[in-house]
Amino acid sequence: MKLRKKMVAGNWKMNGSVELVNQMANAVKAAELDNVDVVVFPPFPLLSNAINTGLNVGSQTVSHEEAGAFTGEVDASLVYELGCKYTLVGHSERRSLYGESDSLIAKKFARAQSSQLIPILCVGETEQEREQDLTESVISKQLDAVIDDLGVVSLDKSVIAYEPVWAIGTGKTATPEQAQQVHQFIRTKIAALDADVAQSLIILYGGSVNESSSELLFAQPDIDGGLVGGASLKPDSFVSICQSA
Ligand code: PGA
Repeated sequence: MKLRKKMVAGNWKMNGSVELVNQMANAVKAAELDNVDVVVFPPFPLLSNAINTGLNVGSQTVSHEEAGAFTGEVDASLVYELGCKYTLVGHSERRSLYGESDSLIAKKFARAQSSQLIPILCVGETEQEREQDLTESVISKQLDAVIDDLGVVSLDKSVIAYEPVWAIGTGKTATPEQAQQVHQFIRTKIAALDADVAQSLIILYGGSVNESSSELLFAQPDIDGGLVGGASLKPDSFVSICQSA
């Protein structure tokens, strides 16, 4: 049985600076975080700086297209060539603010993998969907968009991030029990298709993770770490969250 290593990812969104890259790199290095995979996701213009510090780095999105006449888009293979290892795919802000559909997200996922990037596929329900008891069906649909197109084995070289939309940037973290319930649902759903893929799949929790909430969340059996937004912009907080993994 393959043991899952904990992972903590910092999604900077449209924030940060060269100075923050350097502060973050120094803080992460000083903490000697050997038991956890730490990855930062700064905006595109900071990727090179971040890579040069020795941090593990990913992009926040990539194009689903291959290089060509797509002004303003970013090719996944270039992101890989630069030295990134990961890319986020289907973050709820991309879905809601930029109209990214499940089928587009599946294409981005495929393009990331064919460029040797590891996609972190973000899924999650809105508050209204949770109130209507639709959490599992919404997440199933988001996962099936990838599984139906690319097969369950495609999840083998990916990470899933469960991010309830109502918890992102709101200070309303899901309780460890609420999060564990959904993580277990995701793992069980995938296990029904391929037990080995499900067993080794890293499933992160995201949504207002901070130093006070991370330890109990990460202690849940199916929660393998976190995708952290706001708190990933503060080196001390981010390092504390990584240490709790
Ligand atoms: P948050 O963001 O930690 O600020 O809620 C998480 C995310 O959007 O990935």
